[in-house]
Amino acid sequence: MLKAIVLQNMSLLKNIGEFNGVKLSVLQLHLSDVQTGGNKLFKLKYNLEDARLKGHDTLLTFGGAYSNHIAATAAAGKRAEFKTIGIIRGEKISPLNKTLKRAADNGMHLQFVSREQYRQKEEPLFIESLKARHGNFYLLTEGGSNELAVKGCKEIVSQIGIDFDYIVCPTATGATLTGIALSLLPSQQAVGICVLNNKVQIENFVNGYIKKNEQQQPEIIADYTFNGYAKSNDALNQFVKTFTDSFKIRIEPIYTGKMFYGLFDLIGKNYFKAGSHVIAVHTGGLQYL
Ligand SMILES: *Cc1c(COP(=O)(O)O)cnc(C)c1O
Repeated sequence: MLKAIVLQNMSLLKNIGEFNGVKLSVLQLHLSDVQTGGNKLFKLKYNLEDARLKGHDTLLTFGGAYSNHIAATAAAGKRAEFKTIGIIRGEKISPLNKTLKRAADNGMHLQFVSREQYRQKEEPLFIESLKARHGNFYLLTEGGSNELAVKGCKEIVSQIGIDFDYIVCPTATGATLTGIALSLLPSQQAVGICVLNNKVQIENFVNGYIKKNEQQQPEIIADYTFNGYAKSNDALNQFVKTFTDSFKIRIEPIYTGKMFYGLFDLIGKNYFKAGSHVIAVHTGGLQYL
């Protein structure tokens, strides 16, 4: 079952040049698959294994209409032969958008709930009502960030295969950043670029795994959120275009666009030690485009 969701053995590292004395390479996790590529498969891997071990045949999770997590759960669930149920925030859109159409094609049963109901997604009563409707299931929280997700993300760094000084990723819940930070050598530093205004929540998440003054503690940078999740402006949109044209690597403005925008700004401000090698993790997120 798990063989089906392990990454292929391909070289994902691409050096894109030297900027202000810093060597920059991209770990192109997005290349393995449009739906499950990026960080989401790492987050799902041990959750799916746990679901199987506990005898479940159905996964249920939550997300918005463009959710990368919904897309990945539908695709990985299908490959691992789980039934999947997606509880989608908001009114049913018809025709379905790309994300939801593909999820449905992958066999995901979609249930649309009002924003009000969606806010109850952690309430035991709401979960019980979902069980009454769909039968028993293995519950993955929105975004799928838990201890097993962190465990899976510890395997991201082993995809790199060479020495480096810094590793940078876009950060929403902090699960990916935490997994990465936990797998570094003492000489290496993880840096998370926030994509929404939730630095304190990210810090709390990280501190659940890495104590405050521990050497593995990642840096969390909140200067490039562009005022919130999925918010953008002309400068960011233009940057995404220029980056894509210059390096022939597709990015999007919600996650990787903000990371690379921040990364180049930080390089310009001499944030990284001169002569160092920085790895940027391309966490995917292209499936909705
Ligand atoms: C979900 C997602 C992230 C954020 O990962 P967290 O583990 O929640 O911090 C980053 N990039 C992309 C493309 C994502 O889909």
